[in-house]
Amino acid sequence: MQVFPCPYCGPRNETEFRYIAAAGKTRPDTTQPVQDQDWARYLYRQRNEKGAVREVWMHLTCGELFVMERDSVTMEVLGSTALRDGVE
Ligand SMILES: [Zn+2]
Repeated sequence: MQVFPCPYCGPRNETEFRYIAAAGKTRPDTTQPVQDQDWARYLYRQRNEKGAVREVWMHLTCGELFVMERDSVTMEVLGSTALRDGVE
């Protein structure tokens, strides 16, 4: 078991969280026509980086989204930041 830090609730069991997406990934602008390859790139291409990564997670208990930074090799959590405070 791993403990993840929710910025609103504090440390909690990893089973209370759901991965949402890589932080900073920009959704295509749907106010203009979007090419299929742009949707495919957004939906399916992952960078899969080694080392420190920033990801958007949801704490299912409180329903809040936040950015968690963790090491993708060691799985060590390096920090978490509330999203609704305008971080992303
Ligand atoms: Zn929470």
